[in-house]
Amino acid sequence: MSAKHPLKLLGDVASSDIPHSAFPIPHLVDTFGRVHNNLRISVTDRCNLRCTYCMPEDVVFRDRSELLTFEEMAHFVRVAAGLGVDKVRLTGGEPLVRKDLHKLVRMLVGIPGIKDIGLTTNGVLLADQAGDLFAAGLRRLNVSLDTLDPGRFRELTRRDGLDRVLDGLAAVKRAGFDRVKVNAVAIRGVNDQDAAPLARYCRDHGFELRFIEYMPIGADAWEREKVFFAHEILELLGREVAPLAPAPDNDPRAPATDFLYADGGGRVGIIASVSRPFCRSCNRLRLTAEGKVRNCLFALDETDVKDFLRRPTPDDAAIADALRRSVWAKWEGHEINSARFVKPDRTMHAIGG
Ligand code: SF4
Repeated sequence: MSAKHPLKLLGDVASSDIPHSAFPIPHLVDTFGRVHNNLRISVTDRCNLRCTYCMPEDVVFRDRSELLTFEEMAHFVRVAAGLGVDKVRLTGGEPLVRKDLHKLVRMLVGIPGIKDIGLTTNGVLLADQAGDLFAAGLRRLNVSLDTLDPGRFRELTRRDGLDRVLDGLAAVKRAGFDRVKVNAVAIRGVNDQDAAPLARYCRDHGFELRFIEYMPIGADAWEREKVFFAHEILELLGREVAPLAPAPDNDPRAPATDFLYADGGGRVGIIASVSRPFCRSCNRLRLTAEGKVRNCLFALDETDVKDFLRRPTPDDAAIADALRRSVWAKWEGHEINSARFVKPDRTMHAIGG
């Protein structure tokens, strides 16, 4: 009988009812050997925009009582940090609609082992909160902005607010943030004409632009024909903005592949989730606003940890075990490019970017 790969051996044992904590896996590793150190926390499913590729117009948000408190989120992060998580990203819905978010940032900054805290926001409320967030210790910021055209902004988000987003971007520089990324979802026939203006805007203001290929994770009927693919974006930027070359220091675990403008005009990244999936080096897992662990953006099942967090004394061993089991059960990657693909029930606003 051929020798089983050690991880497979552990797999057999792991699927038993012996607690994972009994096994020598110091970190959150899955059966493909991927070590998970990057936690994304959706602090709310609520949002002040209604982006067409994210949520339905008539969305129903969860009752606030269902959402984890900041203390519960911080407690979860403390347990996860003990399992090797050292990066946390706060997302939503729109995280800044959650009152006093800077207080959560301050809690997370103080957790041993957490080295990096980021936030993804639509920027509408940023001008008022940038200073408090920076003072609380936040240093990494991604602002979602798909167009500089007020009409298309309204078309895409079903709300006004472009001017407030631009005010927010100006405010973050004043607040002291030095490495700000702008995330743009590129959709053919919707905002592909905005790619070059956005690139010029970010070059002029010292922001790092990242294009995200349009994914089937929203409330709309996703069409592959509407994906503006990475190679097309690169070709357009090289033609209309400036020639690009691969960045020498690409982080193999980061979702974006980065490029540098040959004229020294900065950096641009592309998250090619559809055309060049990066699941093989995935290190991410997620916590939803109401306390469900998702081992993949496209996961079809979840692990509830809210009860463990809401016991008179939070059950850290049960939380750790739930985390390990969720990661251990992780599939190889999304199947957008295969006939097996099943769209998750949750839409993006209730998962977080
Ligand atoms: S689709 Fe899932 S496995 Fe792939 S990179 Fe995203 S979170 Fe990771």
